[in-house]
Amino acid sequence: MVRAIVGANWGDEGKGKITDMLARESDIIIRFQGGSNAGHTIINNYGKFALHLLPSGVFYNHTTSIIGNGVALNIPYLLDELHALEEQGVPTPKILVSDRAQILMPYHVQQDTYEEARLAGKSFGSTKSGIAPFYSDKYAKIGFQVSELFDEELLKEKVVRVCEIKNVMFEHLYHKPPIDPQKLLATLLSYRDMVAPYVCDVSAYLHEALKEGKNILLEGQLGSLKDPDHGIYPMVTSSSTLAAYGAIGAGLPPYEIKQITTVVKAYSSAVGAGAFVSEIFGEEADELRKRGGDGGEFGATTGRPRRMGWFDAVASRYGCRIQGATEAVLTVLDVLGYLDELPVCVGYEIDGEVTKDFPTTAKLEKAKPVYTTLPGWKCDIRGIKTYEELPKNCRGYIEFIEKELGVPVTMVSNGPGRDDIIMK
Ligand code: GDP
Repeated sequence: MVRAIVGANWGDEGKGKITDMLARESDIIIRFQGGSNAGHTIINNYGKFALHLLPSGVFYNHTTSIIGNGVALNIPYLLDELHALEEQGVPTPKILVSDRAQILMPYHVQQDTYEEARLAGKSFGSTKSGIAPFYSDKYAKIGFQVSELFDEELLKEKVVRVCEIKNVMFEHLYHKPPIDPQKLLATLLSYRDMVAPYVCDVSAYLHEALKEGKNILLEGQLGSLKDPDHGIYPMVTSSSTLAAYGAIGAGLPPYEIKQITTVVKAYSSAVGAGAFVSEIFGEEADELRKRGGDGGEFGATTGRPRRMGWFDAVASRYGCRIQGATEAVLTVLDVLGYLDELPVCVGYEIDGEVTKDFPTTAKLEKAKPVYTTLPGWKCDIRGIKTYEELPKNCRGYIEFIEKELGVPVTMVSNGPGRDDIIMK
């Protein structure tokens, strides 16, 4: 059985926690897209961890954690993250890396940094992890696949060809030093030695695992609104954030994905530039940011303060639909206990008309929020274990959201810990 855990919003919905929790009943956990440009925060009996590249299943002895072919693989970063876990006392996890994954190179990070500097105020809010140049190169067919590391003759010829193209840009657009093909070759060979113990024909491995009835989790990064096709283009990431892409980015038949667990945040937060209809500002935003997540809403990778907003039912319903959500998990509900009332954005007013459908970017820029206000519950719901024990107004908020989403809310998360979860 394959289950995907994905985000309905802008990312940071708390997918890491849900994956860590569901990993207990899983055999295999796979990252299928993205790279180290976003992070999951996980709190468990070993401590608090920010994982960027490793799947959130690495804390269990019985699981195999896989970096799928769809991931932007930064090899030194992967090894650093593994060592950091070991240093904090986590038993060495079983890791496999797809032989078809492509490698995020140091020049991708450089290019990302140079481009952000060139665009200055007009930038897309890149995390400068090299993700956009990496995926551009993959589709321009000048990327390096893990399998190619083991063919030195091929590499010797390819480094020259890749440097020819990259250096035109580096020297003439960015006025930076060129990449030296010999040094690039040496880097690739060092990467080969680092990654060799983990390399695997992942789709063949998964084919066998499915035959044996194993439980497989696909772990998504970011959320629907960051998808390059269905998200807020161009304020998006460079690989698909949707469950459907899990089939491609892991190497699985699409029809095997039976459960699409879509994580929905009980309020909104976003990083980077772009339209954000239900955004709030000033003291109201500072208060929510300070109370949000676990110790404040600041990016797990970048440390940037997140932009805050009220729950956006228009965006979240779209986010669930485009994921093909079979269930929704509502997270960080405990954070909202301080509010007297909770505005919920139920429509967008665009050019004088109210719509409930999430529009394309140009229209989104013009959208103004239409709010409904629900009463707050004014208490701390952390520690509550059953749905019935939740205050009436809190259940009212959940049920209102469930109706707006059109997807059953099966779990409610009321704290950052592994066990802070209520089954509905
Ligand atoms: P992800 O990228 O979707 O995994 O999200 P992040 O890990 O970046 O952000 C979620 C943040 O919220 C982390 O700091 C989590 O520890 C925290 N978190 C997750 N679920 C809950 C919850 O139900 N309540 C609270 N207070 N914090 C939560």
